[in-house]
Amino acid sequence: MHDVINPANEQVIASVPSATVEETDEAIVRAHEAFPAWRDLAPGDRANLLRAFSDVVRDHAEELAQLEVANAGHTISNARWEANNVANVLAYYAGAPERLFGRQIPVPGGIDITFKEPVGVVGVIVPWNFPMPIAGWGFAPALAAGCTVVLKPAEITPLTAIRLGELALEAGIPAHVFTVVTGKGSVVGQRFVDHELVRKVVFTGSTEVGQGIMAGAARQVKAVTLELGGKSANVIFADADLEKAAASAPYGVFDNAGQDCCARSRILVQRSVFDRFMELFEPAVKGVKVGDPLLDATEMGPLVSKAQFDTVSGFLDGSAPIAFQGECPDGPGYWLPATVLAPVDSTARVFQEEIFGPVVVVTPFEDEADAIRLANDSEYGLSGSIWSRDLGRAIRVSRAIESGNLSVNSHSSVRYWTPFGGYKKSGLGRELGPDALDAFTETKNVFISTEE
Ligand code: NAD
Repeated sequence: MHDVINPANEQVIASVPSATVEETDEAIVRAHEAFPAWRDLAPGDRANLLRAFSDVVRDHAEELAQLEVANAGHTISNARWEANNVANVLAYYAGAPERLFGRQIPVPGGIDITFKEPVGVVGVIVPWNFPMPIAGWGFAPALAAGCTVVLKPAEITPLTAIRLGELALEAGIPAHVFTVVTGKGSVVGQRFVDHELVRKVVFTGSTEVGQGIMAGAARQVKAVTLELGGKSANVIFADADLEKAAASAPYGVFDNAGQDCCARSRILVQRSVFDRFMELFEPAVKGVKVGDPLLDATEMGPLVSKAQFDTVSGFLDGSAPIAFQGECPDGPGYWLPATVLAPVDSTARVFQEEIFGPVVVVTPFEDEADAIRLANDSEYGLSGSIWSRDLGRAIRVSRAIESGNLSVNSHSSVRYWTPFGGYKKSGLGRELGPDALDAFTETKNVFISTEE
């Protein structure tokens, strides 16, 4: 059993079983047995079941959101968005079974057609930072493709995943088609990698664990999608709407207390407007409302755990100057204030390493080429923003930054209609968007001779 702790007050709120290797194998075997019937269901029937699942999740969105506030310390407004995101992603991919097209390819001597066939059992491994959306981005397209799914939430944030597993059954998804297995990464997650009957692993988490998963999957030539770390740049040019860039910058990095793989945790500002930007940025940071995550007005809650609090605090070791900080509650809970480190050189550890907490570095740059050089001076390449009123420059810089998801004059990264994933050590493969089912299907080619 594993105790689940509310990070806003350090109270134990639940105790959840830690599955053994044998129990994990049992879930995988059952998912394998459930696969043929799910795969062979008429596409319209599978679509209807996914729509029903979406509806049930939406009906329980408030309950799921409250659970996430208690388990992960997310603000209630974020948690409501997250629960509805699961419902939206299910509804979006409910349109897929009836559109899982193959192709007819012109060939001599006959007809050539391709089929998209589900790979089989998919293992989805989820981190603690966005337990609901990241689970949904894996299981919704996998189920739509006709795969069955075993899903492992992070040990410290299992509650919403467990509830989603129950809601799937309530919606009529057949038993063992979608199974949530709680427990340790080194036991349950590793079994998804090692078990021959799991034919695909979707992993979101740290780059280090992701590398191990990729190496393990190689032994069985098993497909993987990896969504890993990030150290994204928010690049602000002198010709930008500086007021808007400064006012929005805190929300590009401090959302979810900075525990966001897309956090724009490196702000690069053109030197000619650096001082002006910092003048505007300071009140914006101090204005972020930090406190009880259950209050509608709260914009930032606590860190998820004591371990994460210690890790993030470890970066505030005096090696980089603190320009200013916001405020946060005293007393129990894993609270840290929004913290701005500036000016920071690109060789500094805080510039290079993912902090995954409410800490941002600000670094000046000279010109467009320097901005691109600094933005790409990272082993990661997940997300990022470009602020400029010059459309040509915004497009040039968007094309030059080695990153999977960029936004111009905005901080949005993840929209379920569009592909999401990383360059370099931020990952492999793409989730979401119109092509997500490719990650859960094999392409089968069949040639039919028309010769007499
Ligand atoms: P983590 O890598 O420690 O754990 C992620 C998941 O993997 C957990 O469920 C864990 O139990 C499991 N796991 C651990 N060891 C395993 C093993 N040997 N085999 C199989 N599974 C194992 O990461 P975390 O600390 O939970 O999450 C934070 C990290 O996730 C950050 O680095 C963040 O950037 C990254 N992240 C990336 C994205 C993205 O989309 N790119 C999204 C969210 C989080």
